[in-house]
Amino acid sequence: MNLDLDAAACAFRDEVRDWLAANVPAGRLPSVDTPQGDAAHRAWERRLADAGLAVVSWPLEYGGRAVPPLHALLFEEEYHAAGAPARIGQNGLFLLAPTLLRHGTPAQRDRILPPMVRADEVWAQAWSEPEAGSDLAAIRSRGRRTDGGWLLSGQKTWSSRAAVADRAFGLFRTDPQASRHRGLTCVMFDLRAPGVTVRPIRQLDGDPGFAEIFLDDVFVPDSDVIGEPGDGWRVAMSTAGHERGQTLRSPGRFLAAAERLVALWRSGDGRDAATRNRVVDAWIGAQAYRMHTFAALDAPAGPFAASATKLFWSELDVALHETALDVLGARAETDAAWTDGYLFALAGPIYAGTNEVHRGIVAERMLGLPREVAR
Ligand SMILES: Cc1cc2nc3c(=O)[nH]c(=O)nc-3n(C[C@H](O)[C@H](O)[C@H](O)COP(=O)(O)OP(=O)(O)OC[C@H]3O[C@@H](n4cnc5c(N)ncnc54)[C@H](O)[C@@H]3O)c2cc1C
Repeated sequence: MNLDLDAAACAFRDEVRDWLAANVPAGRLPSVDTPQGDAAHRAWERRLADAGLAVVSWPLEYGGRAVPPLHALLFEEEYHAAGAPARIGQNGLFLLAPTLLRHGTPAQRDRILPPMVRADEVWAQAWSEPEAGSDLAAIRSRGRRTDGGWLLSGQKTWSSRAAVADRAFGLFRTDPQASRHRGLTCVMFDLRAPGVTVRPIRQLDGDPGFAEIFLDDVFVPDSDVIGEPGDGWRVAMSTAGHERGQTLRSPGRFLAAAERLVALWRSGDGRDAATRNRVVDAWIGAQAYRMHTFAALDAPAGPFAASATKLFWSELDVALHETALDVLGARAETDAAWTDGYLFALAGPIYAGTNEVHRGIVAERMLGLPREVAR
């Protein structure tokens, strides 16, 4: 693995750094989960898109720069180091778009990607249901065949950004006779279509970060099915690889947080060796994640490696933020940036599949350990 950047990579990194230095809003935008924050974050996404920096790895025809994966990682490092705003479009940009680029039709890509890249359409992911989170194949929301499309019914839950989003993509059972993993279809639908009710759910910080979605015979045309009807599990698993892997949680975020933690320790009067060691461990963890990611560019990891990666970043995030709050002590009460980061980190071991489930995948499928025997 060669970590020396060539001239093209350095030039790209410098361009991104300069643009961010000139354009990142001073001060934090209001929370992405509030109406004010929604407008401010959409405006920011448009600015990124105008600069050709919304999704640098995408093909040119959809507003990307078609840069190699290494450059995309450098972009993320610069983005987070500059303290740039959270990405309101992330479900679309980092989950739906790669899925469409792999399984969608050219017509779907032409129709869906341009408004996504400018945040004119913000997407929610509608997979989880009240009885189907870890066991996603247990979903009960269904799609019934009708003229020219499907009628969707059922209930989805924990759908991030759904309170402010425009459209959603989700899994529906379209063949009740088929076995659990078959007979599922991946479908896109409009959150304001007749028959859709969106009920916001308040999260730990009080903002409506998610919503429940109720569907009552919602019509979607065939052109909004991703992949073949009945093949939704395969499509969803390719989306999940992006969610658990590095696209959504690139090392740049952890590197920037670790640097901030080191600065926080330095700026305080802490002398406690145990906490200092945790600061060091968090910094090493972020560096290790970066190395792992760079190495994977040369030698792509196996199919279940995303589970190990997800375990690593989610636990690193919690440890890093817990350490920051301990360094801050009582001051943590008034430090919104670290406290918000901590509350969000707590969700990492739950979303994108819980860590218990990912440990099961690593144990059984990567390491070939026997299945856990119920006592
Ligand atoms: C911040 C956040 C954002 C989210 N965003 C979205 C979103 O945008 N779209 C969406 O569709 N969903 C979203 N989710 C939902 C998330 O994917 C689910 O919460 C998650 O998959 C777990 O499912 P569950 O909540 O039904 O818990 P359950 O599946 O009921 O699990 C409960 C407990 O049992 C454990 N468990 C279950 N099965 C096993 C097993 N086989 N082995 C060992 N332990 C097991 C779990 O690990 C967990 O501790 C989000 C969740 C959070 C916290």
